[in-house]
Amino acid sequence: MALIGIDLGTTNSLACVYKNGEIILIPNQLGKYQTPSVVSLTERGLFVGEAAKNNLILHPENTAASFKTFMGTSKVFSLGEQLFLPEELSALVIKQLVSDAEKFLGEPVTEAIISVPAYFNDSQRCATKLAAQMAGVNVERLINEPSAAALYHRLAYENKDGSIMVIDFGGGTLDVSIVECFENIIEIIGIAGDNHLGGNDVDNQIAMFFCCQNGFSIESLNNEEKAILYKQAEKAKISLSSNDTATMVLFAHNKEYKLILTNKLIAEICRGLFDRIKKIINQAVKNCSRRPIVNDVVLVGGSAQITALQDYLSNLFGKQVHVSPEPANAIALGIGVYAGIKLRDENMHDIVMTDVCPFSLGVGARHSTEDKTVYMETIIPRSSMLPCAKEKMFYTLYDGQRALNFKIYQGEQYYVENNLELGEITVGVNPDKAGNQWAKVTFMYDINGILYVSVESCTGEVKEKEIVNEKLHLSHEELEKSKEKLTNIIQSQFNSDGNEIIKKLVYLYQFASSAEKEHISYVISDLENAYYSGSPIICKKTYERTKELVKEFEHNISQEINFEDILSDDDYDFWDEEE
Ligand code: ADP
Ligand code: MG
Repeated sequence: MALIGIDLGTTNSLACVYKNGEIILIPNQLGKYQTPSVVSLTERGLFVGEAAKNNLILHPENTAASFKTFMGTSKVFSLGEQLFLPEELSALVIKQLVSDAEKFLGEPVTEAIISVPAYFNDSQRCATKLAAQMAGVNVERLINEPSAAALYHRLAYENKDGSIMVIDFGGGTLDVSIVECFENIIEIIGIAGDNHLGGNDVDNQIAMFFCCQNGFSIESLNNEEKAILYKQAEKAKISLSSNDTATMVLFAHNKEYKLILTNKLIAEICRGLFDRIKKIINQAVKNCSRRPIVNDVVLVGGSAQITALQDYLSNLFGKQVHVSPEPANAIALGIGVYAGIKLRDENMHDIVMTDVCPFSLGVGARHSTEDKTVYMETIIPRSSMLPCAKEKMFYTLYDGQRALNFKIYQGEQYYVENNLELGEITVGVNPDKAGNQWAKVTFMYDINGILYVSVESCTGEVKEKEIVNEKLHLSHEELEKSKEKLTNIIQSQFNSDGNEIIKKLVYLYQFASSAEKEHISYVISDLENAYYSGSPIICKKTYERTKELVKEFEHNISQEINFEDILSDDDYDFWDEEE
């Protein structure tokens, strides 16, 4: 039974494990650490990861990406005929990572530590947990992505004391955190972020610029052309992290369009985006529980590799910013460090990590009975150190009032209608003069970002509640049902696995002996028949049966020929003749 760490990214997801004192990134079936967070369901089956990412171009209507941005919302993605919630799509990604990890580790994975952006609110955190449950794993802990990055940085830079600012710029989210590292203590003292800002936006800007320079509008392209354009934009951007220029080419409207990009151009095109990053940096500094003095700025996330951004930030700080040694893997490696702490590994047990509450928590209140609008009475202010418990007293507003009702909110806005409602608790009081009866509200916010509320009235009545997002809380039956839905879909994965096997067989065919050729062609037709039968059970059975055969073919075909066996016993020395 293993515990793994999962960086469930908007663009890419990674898994890691802490084993024998080492943090190990887990490779996927393609031998890569990063699995694109993309899901595609076509008539040929379910695809998750790289294969699904390719379908973004071929079957955009059957493919979903960036669904993390919609976690905890009621947005529905349609993949062909089937509908999915963002947490179901995330569950499919988690299932893929878990299955790769199980193959790699040779044991079942039952628990996971999953990272989330620090700015994820309660709905988004609950949705992440739900996704893991649907994938059949228990969440040991949700850890804030910047905290994980700081943990990794702390280790990578050999525990130098001081404050660092961690800027995590991924595909779809930006997180800025200020972390104080002193001896064995890592303390996050301030965070800010934007979960709609990332490398995708850079691609967008480049794509728009491409269209603008070539004199056509992006709307004039069909879906496929648009997808190719975005892919080209990303490719050019990535290429610019190691080259001075990059060329984009697009064939559309029966014409070939071209654009040559440089880092200087990227700096100009993305000026507005970079300024938004600057604003978030400002906000993170303002949000600190005490005035920070930052010794170092560290960039993590795939988009940390954008040269123009590095230059912009170095310019902003008047000092060279650091790019983390493995920017795209830093969060996963940090979760690995945390797993080591959790497992009480002796190399790690000294490190203590504290975290802060990323948003304010409170209840709706009114100053008087005349007040039409309800304001937010904060109980736990943003940036409070976790875990924390705070309480506040509330009094009746009018004569004869029989109950005190508390609606619980999260957010920074003055009027509660602009904050996120989390739940509600009501306690009874005795009819009396206004202000004579009261209730004490206690909020406890734990290290996992779970809020417990207890309300005690002067009559002695006590009500306690773990605040779970009702919309995202599934009953046992509902959870089983959604697990079954995902399992059924995964069974159809045979089709994509079946495709892979067919491809492999076709490849092996060319090296096979004529007897083997006959056998291979029989197996291919068997697989194709299973696929066209449309029955997941037949598919699965055929797939299982064929897997062994493929291994056997592979083994026979790749077997090294023993040259001694084909040497004649004659003493004739072939080399001698040449001399
Ligand atoms: P997320 O945290 O959103 O899952 P990642 O940290 O994996 O994302 O970053 C993905 C983003 O990084 C993508 O937008 C990708 O285009 C970008 N990226 C990856 N490699 C490079 C590179 N060499 N230069 C610039 N951007 C890159
Ligand atoms: Mg990330």
